[in-house]
Amino acid sequence: MSDDIRYCTIIGSGPAGYTAAIYAARANLKPLLFTGKEPGGQLMITTDVENYPGYPEGIMGPQMMADFQKQAERFETEVRYEMITEVDFSGPVHVLTTESGEKIKTYSTIISTGASAKWLGLESEVKLMNKGVSACAVCDGFFYKGQEVIVVGGGDTAAEEATYLAKLCPTVHLLVRRDEMRASKIMQKRVMNTKNIQVHWNTETVEILGEEGVIGAKVINNKTNTESVIDASGFFVAIGHKPNTDIFKDWLDMDEAGYIITKPDSTKTKVEGLFASGDAQDNIYRQAVTAAGTGCMAALDAERYLAAKEII
Ligand code: NDP
Repeated sequence: MSDDIRYCTIIGSGPAGYTAAIYAARANLKPLLFTGKEPGGQLMITTDVENYPGYPEGIMGPQMMADFQKQAERFETEVRYEMITEVDFSGPVHVLTTESGEKIKTYSTIISTGASAKWLGLESEVKLMNKGVSACAVCDGFFYKGQEVIVVGGGDTAAEEATYLAKLCPTVHLLVRRDEMRASKIMQKRVMNTKNIQVHWNTETVEILGEEGVIGAKVINNKTNTESVIDASGFFVAIGHKPNTDIFKDWLDMDEAGYIITKPDSTKTKVEGLFASGDAQDNIYRQAVTAAGTGCMAALDAERYLAAKEII
């Protein structure tokens, strides 16, 4: 390796990024990992993670990410707490620019920049984050078993979250801001056929209620302008995710929402030596364990690419 060209650089520090780092480091690629502005990714705003195999008692999201990082560093991953703000994939050596203006040259790059949940933007939402407010029913729904919950949104995610929660909760209040849902017909049908989902049409959230935990929400019907209160102990925001892929848009194929399109059964992108993993390329599963899986795939793909090019 030329002194100033890295074998493998990883952008992002969620389960995908750290898993890619563990595999790349153990393959002696001496990876350099940029954490981005939210080190640890979405799990840092989760409390108990109970669905990640290997933790029979569950684990706190931030602790899990600290463990991921420790494991990656044990095998000599270099972790930098910086953002990559610009990329140039025009040649066989990729050039990544950090926020401080440094140019990093690398033979292979793994994108694991994740996605961020969209939020309503209410003060009470911030105050009650992880105290009843969540953006992931699969992660947190279990904590509200037997209790009433609210889901906000009218797309496929909201429909899926509401039907998932309906298996655990006596009533799921689904707040849809228009008089129709954006979700696919089949998902809408599933919602309508689930007796304990109560759809509140033309309804928006004014405020989430509670101090130490959610006790309900003040909502408004935007047709009649009438306010009311819905009692609930969980408040799930399901109004979409945004993949953190803006800086790659000139280089890669993406779907309408900005998720990177990878080649079938691999993490390869249309740029040589550039691999995408985790939520930045997964609009469907979006789980820590699936992100970790594709992070592993990306490191293996990078290692094989470097070997085929006789760089390692
Ligand atoms: P979407 O963008 O499709 O839907 C977002 C929903 O949230 C819309 O109903 C929108 O309302 C509503 N919304 C947005 N902002 C607000 C707000 N501030 N207050 C209240 N409501 C709001 O996002 P999804 O995450 O649902 O889906 C994204 C993509 O992923 C879609 O292509 C979907 O098909 C796909 N997907 C597929 C799944 C599957 O196949 N199993 C599962 C989940 C997602 P409005 O309609 O008025 O704009």
